[in-house]
Amino acid sequence: MAEKKRKIFSVKIAPQECKGCSRCVNACPKSVLKIQENINQMGYFFATYTGDGCVGCGACFYNCPEPGAVTIYEKSEE
Ligand code: SF4
Ligand code: SF4
Repeated sequence: MAEKKRKIFSVKIAPQECKGCSRCVNACPKSVLKIQENINQMGYFFATYTGDGCVGCGACFYNCPEPGAVTIYEKSEE
């Protein structure tokens, strides 16, 4: 039987690039992004990935007004 690998996605938000506008949080259909309680060097409460459940849809990336803030990764399950 052929080995079947499930695609897993992860998203990373660069704290110093984020302005905390919440657009990604509101756009995510899986509700896996949140604005956290610490501020970055610019004084913004920045967004982070809660760590599980991203489906790689790209909504956060396309809704973010800050270039370079959001990176979506695809990886195969071992
Ligand atoms: S790629 Fe989609 S599911 Fe993943 S964090 Fe962004 S909006 Fe949410
Ligand atoms: S949309 Fe971009 S700038 Fe706004 S909170 Fe999300 S990562 Fe930060």
